[in-house]
Amino acid sequence: MKTSVVGFPRVGAMRELKFASEKYFRGEIAREELETCARDLRRRHIREQLDAGIDFVPCNDFSFYDGVLDMAVLLNAVPARYRELGLPALDTYFAMARGYQGKAGDVRALAMKKWFNTNYHYIVPEIGDDTEIRLNGNKPAAEFLEAEAVRKEAGSDSCLKPVLVGPFTFLKLARFTGQKKAADFAADVCAVYAQILSALAGYGARWIQLDEPSLVMDLTEADKDLFLSLYRKLLAEKGGVKILLQTYFGDIRDCYRDVCALGFDGIGLDFLEGKQTADLVAGGFPAGTALFAGLVNGKNIWRNDYEKTLTAVEGLRARTDTLVLGTSCSLLHVPYTLKNETKMPEDRKAYFAFASEKLLELAQLRDICASASPRELPAYQANRALFAASRPGTDAAVRARCAAVKDADFVRLPEFAEREKIQKARFALPLLPTTTIGSFPQTPDVKANRAAFRKGEISAEEYEAFNKKKIAECVAFQEEIGLDVLVHGEYERNDMVEYFGECLDGYLFTERAWVQSYGTRCVKPPVVWGDVSRARPMTVSWSSYAQSLTKKPLKGMLTGPVTILNWSFPREDIPLKDCALQIALAIRDEVLDLEAAGIPVIQIDEAALREKLPLRKSDWEPEYLSWAIPAFRLVHSGVKPETQIHTHMCYSEFTDIIPAIDSMDADVITFEASRSDLQILDALRTHHFKTEVGPGVYDIHSPRVPPVEEIAAALRKMLEKIPAEKLWVNPDCGLKTRGTPETEASLRNLVQAAVQVRAEEKQVRI
Ligand code: GLN
Ligand code: ZN
Repeated sequence: MKTSVVGFPRVGAMRELKFASEKYFRGEIAREELETCARDLRRRHIREQLDAGIDFVPCNDFSFYDGVLDMAVLLNAVPARYRELGLPALDTYFAMARGYQGKAGDVRALAMKKWFNTNYHYIVPEIGDDTEIRLNGNKPAAEFLEAEAVRKEAGSDSCLKPVLVGPFTFLKLARFTGQKKAADFAADVCAVYAQILSALAGYGARWIQLDEPSLVMDLTEADKDLFLSLYRKLLAEKGGVKILLQTYFGDIRDCYRDVCALGFDGIGLDFLEGKQTADLVAGGFPAGTALFAGLVNGKNIWRNDYEKTLTAVEGLRARTDTLVLGTSCSLLHVPYTLKNETKMPEDRKAYFAFASEKLLELAQLRDICASASPRELPAYQANRALFAASRPGTDAAVRARCAAVKDADFVRLPEFAEREKIQKARFALPLLPTTTIGSFPQTPDVKANRAAFRKGEISAEEYEAFNKKKIAECVAFQEEIGLDVLVHGEYERNDMVEYFGECLDGYLFTERAWVQSYGTRCVKPPVVWGDVSRARPMTVSWSSYAQSLTKKPLKGMLTGPVTILNWSFPREDIPLKDCALQIALAIRDEVLDLEAAGIPVIQIDEAALREKLPLRKSDWEPEYLSWAIPAFRLVHSGVKPETQIHTHMCYSEFTDIIPAIDSMDADVITFEASRSDLQILDALRTHHFKTEVGPGVYDIHSPRVPPVEEIAAALRKMLEKIPAEKLWVNPDCGLKTRGTPETEASLRNLVQAAVQVRAEEKQVRI
């Protein structure tokens, strides 16, 4: 049995590529220096995989920004506005990725979207009627040859397989701006792929990996036709090279038979996220085709359970005589190595495998599977011992509390309509009440204060005094401009998830476990290590202090359980659902403490709720919404009717789950909307959305100050769809990334606009 890696992370263990790219963007280093950095990283990563003895090592999985963008450029799908800048190729590429503003012109970046169900974002290719699809550049061949040189140096006889985003996935992800659609470009796209394959074969490539994660989605007949037409043609023209069709993030139930019948040399399937993969293969696998079985998790950071993998391999051997053990998807989604975690105790480290350690696991598993008595090998037994021992981190009190949760705990009483009346009477807010989403600008002094405290350079008293001063200024400003529901500004938080992770028991933190989120941006998700609980209040003192400064209602600010979980590395030894319940109970305690401390409004952010919806619609309810929505309800069901619960979401594309959002049973929901076409408002109306809503009235991603009239116009448009009694006025999102001057000016305008439209509404009513 051989081993294969689907893809390897590329920014470098110390984020070398990020820092070099950013220097290049700032004009501090020349292109050659950036290219040298990239080449060194590519060579190092290939070498590491070869040295680990991996049999199929990916190449061309490197990217300066994103692999889908690389494919777009290779297919010459470079919109005219970028070409017309007349920049060198790499700069044109970066202009597409990040936008360009300078001597050559002013263009915005292409759109960016989340890569399936991961936290990685790809650049959306844009194809117009006049896009001329043809081969542009030679990146795959150049990187293959570079990798071949490394292989020869290493004296390895492993196979280097160039990786390309497959034509079907490419066409499914592209945005078509004219009349022509995906199918109209299929023949041209196919021809370019055929050209690339033959060039690679000419340079000596034996296998090519075509990534087709779009096959794990729900497929229509038209999708299947497109897929079949692309691959029938491509397989007929492939020449001497072997093709591995690589899928991941789920199973390919909708096209499995077709895939088997097409005659691929290898088929890569995800046995971890693909719930039906094992059954599909059990129902038959084509003879003579290699099965690349994704059994080592490319998305999570826990050690592989060798017994499970061995059992799976033993079963698969009966189905195929060419079995290759692989990662379930690219290792892009996990950090590099545990070696750089200097503070994590060894007995914790034993449970984890980042990318480098997964290479070792693959090699060990290959030896184990090859052995006549695999269960006697030391590597197997050490792994067995790890999984057999009860893992530290179990908290009996948390378990008991979860077990005691009753159905009634998920229901807030009295029901919404009743609460709405009580709250209207309590707060006596004006029509179209104004508020913000929570954070105020994280100016350098705010960050410096936090950093100094972390490093022990200032005392807790000094740290607190500074934050209180900021809170006081923030409250005074909000009062001065006339906002209705105030916030404390979130000066104590680095990040809306990390902050709570650090306060909660059961979380583990890493030093350098970075994962690429997009381009040069990396995130360091906290790890859910054990049962989660809250030892003490996390936010109450800040909110109480802020409330003590004003007679206006203050909004306490929390992150919800689903978002906390979705932005962490989750456990694999208990279901996500159970973990969400634990976090929900911890946040519930905080909600009740805030209420007891006299905080009348509490916002529980669920920015990432939409994000982890399963890829297949049929899985939405049973596998996700059925626990995610209850987890949120549990957080707030214990409050009094007069306490107002807000929630906030960042993606406005939740038109398809509106009933679920309404059943979160918050009193008010604010969401990002200024960049959308407000179609969501129609959908809210169609579904008789009961919750009060605050669609964002201006984009906080830009330093631009929206004029009063622009905000007023947005509000009037909203009022055509939403009754005035249900409408709130707020920015799109938190203001932490903004500067102070534009924030103050924008908020003043926001209040002005609300006052103006409020007066108009009253006029109409008289
Ligand atoms: N309350 C958070 C903030 O204002 C919400 C952030 C978010 O929606 N991403 O920063
Ligand atoms: Zn937001």
